[in-house]
Amino acid sequence: MKLYLQGDRGKALCEHCQQVVGITYLRRDLPFSDGQGQARDILVGVCDLCASAVAIPPQSTPAIKEARKHQLTSIEARLPAVYLDVLDAAMHSVAEDAGVQMRKLFFGYYLSAQSGLDLAQVHGGFTAYLEQQVRARGLPASQPMKRLSLKVNHYVAEDLARLLQATRMSQTELLKSLIAQIREDVLEGANPAVIADLRRLMRLAL
Ligand SMILES: [Zn+2]
Repeated sequence: MKLYLQGDRGKALCEHCQQVVGITYLRRDLPFSDGQGQARDILVGVCDLCASAVAIPPQSTPAIKEARKHQLTSIEARLPAVYLDVLDAAMHSVAEDAGVQMRKLFFGYYLSAQSGLDLAQVHGGFTAYLEQQVRARGLPASQPMKRLSLKVNHYVAEDLARLLQATRMSQTELLKSLIAQIREDVLEGANPAVIADLRRLMRLAL
C-alpha cells in the first residue's frame, strides 16, 4: 500500500469539476456527508481547480471512522409532560441516584433492543389509561407539553433511524411509544430481565 505524504500529487475524477483533475494531498477538516460534524486534520487529495476533497487515501479512513463514531446527534421532541414524568419515574425506580442525563442511556438501551413490533399497541394502551385517569380524577383534558433533548452517539442514532423505518412512525410518536413500553416494563414491573439490564447499565454509568 502506498503511503501518501503531504504535498504528494496525483490525478482523480472531480465530481464538482466533471473532469479528471490534478490533485494535491493536503490535511483538511472533512465534513461528514450529512452535514453534521467533521473529521479534523485528515490527509486527503484536494482538486487543484476547485479545492474540494476528491480522494481519500486508505491511511486516512481509520481516523475518519473514529471521528464518525464520536459524532453526536441531537434528538429533540416536544412531548406531553406526563411522558417525561413516566420516563424519569422509571429511571428513579431503577436507580435512585439517576439524573436526567440517564435518559439517553434508557433510550439507547431501548432503541437497540426493540424490534418495534408491539410498540403501537403498547402506546395505545397507555393513552387509553391516561384518558381514563383524567376522566376518573376529573382533571382538565389539556396536558402541558415539555421538551425532550438528547445528544446521542452514532450507534444510537443508527438504531433510531432503523426503528423509524421499521415502525413508519414519526420521531415524536416513536419516542412516546418507547416511553409507554418503558412504563410497562419498568414502572409496572412487567419485565424483570430488562430492569436487571438497566440497573447494571446505570451502575456502570453513575
Ligand atoms: Zn474540482
